[in-house]
Parts: sequence; structure tokens; C-alpha cells
Amino acid sequence: MNEEILSHPDLIWALRNYVMDSGRLLVVEVDGQGLIGESNLAFRSHFSSFKRVRGEPLSRFLGGGRGDTLEIESGLVNRTPVAHVFKSLDGGETYLFHAYPVAQGSLLIGELANAAKSDIIERMGNLAIEMSRLVRDLRKTNHELAMANDLNLELARTDPLTGLANRRYFMERLQTTLAHAQARDHRLSLVMIDLDHFKQVNDRFGHAGGDATLVAFAGLLKSQVRAADLSGRFGGEEFVLYMLDADLRAASEAAGRLRVQMSQLRPLDADFRVTASFGVTELSPGETAETLLIRADDLLYRAKAEGRNRVIAEACGA
Ligand code: GH3
Ligand code: MG
Ligand code: MG
Repeated sequence: MNEEILSHPDLIWALRNYVMDSGRLLVVEVDGQGLIGESNLAFRSHFSSFKRVRGEPLSRFLGGGRGDTLEIESGLVNRTPVAHVFKSLDGGETYLFHAYPVAQGSLLIGELANAAKSDIIERMGNLAIEMSRLVRDLRKTNHELAMANDLNLELARTDPLTGLANRRYFMERLQTTLAHAQARDHRLSLVMIDLDHFKQVNDRFGHAGGDATLVAFAGLLKSQVRAADLSGRFGGEEFVLYMLDADLRAASEAAGRLRVQMSQLRPLDADFRVTASFGVTELSPGETAETLLIRADDLLYRAKAEGRNRVIAEACGA
């Protein structure tokens, strides 16, 4: 048995749910006092002559090999399942069980065995193999589910063309980061970006050319951001970037670098450059993401009006 897997409470839980449905394996949960909690149908049918199962001591149903007391895991060394041989109280039947420690007791999984000793040993071995296969399958399924979840999450957050954060995810992260910055007196700056005369790019190079330009600009953005920053595609040819612990000056310098890099890039044709305009502003105490974005957008609009391919940076109330 793989200890690492079994230490994972979720896996034991998954194992429990899986075996509970088994028609052959007897499954019974026992608390720290040896009282029965859940049991499966296979277990209850074996003991159908008893009126009650739940809440009864397991020792009413099964006896340990030595004396009457069942050794139900109070002192169990963590994680490893323990093999038990139980007898029915009339002594007529032998059961093999594996006990797995759970939060408040044990999960017992077992089956009826032939009393012959060799058979017991063989069956115990088989049961162990079956359980470890089960756990391996469960782990695999778990792992695949986790991977699929990660992938779905990633897809839900990402703009498919550029790989940048999409608008929704950017906003989500901006809200969180802004609250964090407000609470701890960190600086936060925001940069709004729009590519200039982008319609002309599409007109001249087609939609694919336009797309390639968007990807190229996204590449520049990615190369600029630090771990605490996030860049996103806000819409068509509009991008956005927040920078934590960056004041207006630092953010406008970063925007300036991006502007120069973009104007030097020739994403489509050696003779054709694409430029971008930038609005940069810094969070002021107590303000919301909404007013911050509006201010950055106004500054971007001014950069367009004043001739494009420029950065306009201003703090609140300037
Ligand atoms: P300005 O300098 O004022 O921003 O001019 P502009 O032409 O960039 O602005 P406008 O908003 O008039 O046009 C934006 C164009 O961007 C129109 C639209 O077809 C194009 N566009 C939006 N999303 C995409 C996209 O995903 N791919 C491509 N290729 N083009 C897009
Ligand atoms: Mg534009
Ligand atoms: Mg635009």
C-alpha cells in the first residue's frame, strides 16, 4: 500500500465510497469505541438476523481470533491498513478485513473466507492486492480530474488568442489586489493601452495580420510584467496592466518602454510599424477599481487625441 496516498483523507473517502457499493466486499465503519456507523448492504446481508447494525458494537457481530475483544485501531500506527482475521460469534465463519484509519475510527473492508489457514493467507494477499489496485485507480482518476480542473480553470481565465488574462479574470484579480493594496498602504498603478489605427492593420494585412500584431504586442507585455503585476486583454486591440508596488512614475516608465519597443517592432512588414497609446494612473487612497479604470481610460483617450503613440500619466486630482 502506498502510504502517501492513503494519508490523503480524500482518497480514503473515495475508496470508502467506492467499496460501499460493492456487492462482494463487506464494508463497515467503526468509531473509536468500536461502535458501528455506516455499513454497506453486503455487510448487513451477512448479518441479516440482527435487527440493528448501526450503533451496535462490532463485537456483537465478529470476534477477534484471540478472546472476545476486537482490536479496533485505537493505538494504530498512522496510515497503514491493518489486516484482521475475525470469526463469527458462533465460530462457524472466518472473515478477513483490512482496517483503514479514518478521522474518528476505522474503515473496515473485508470478505468471508474459508477457515483453512492457507486459504486465509492467500485471500489476505489477494485482498491487499485488490485494495492497492483500487487505490492506484482512484489516485489516477483523482490526478486526471485535478489536471482537467486546472486546464479548465486556465482556459476560463485566458484570452485564447494572446494567452493573456481575459477581461473577467483581470477584473477579478484587480479587485483583490486593489483591496490588498488599500489595506496595507501599497502603491498600485494601472496602464490602459490601445493599439493605434488598428483598423488600418486589418485593412492592409487582413484579419490574420491583425491577430499576429495582437500576439506580438501581448508578447511585449508578458516580457514586462513582474510576478506582482498582471496584464490582460481587455477587448479587441485594447490591453490593460496593473502594477503592484509601482508608483505613477515607475508605471509610466514601464509604459514608455513598452511604447518604444512596440514602435520598433515590425510584426508584419519591414516597412510597417504599429504604435500604441497609453493612459497611466495610480490608485489613490479609498478609491475603487471603477474610478481607477475610468481615469486611465480618459488619459488613454487624451493620448489618442494628442496624436497617438504616446504615454499620458496623471495621478488623481492632478
Ligand atoms: P485608434 O487609433 O483610434 O484606436 O483607431 P483604431 O482603428 O485602432 O480603432 P477602432 O476602435 O476604430 O478599430 C479597432 C479595430 O480592431 C476594429 C476591429 O475590427 C479590430 N479588432 C478588434 N478585435 C480584433 C481581433 O481580435 N483581431 C483582429 N485582427 N482585429 C480586431
Ligand atoms: Mg485602437
Ligand atoms: Mg480600441
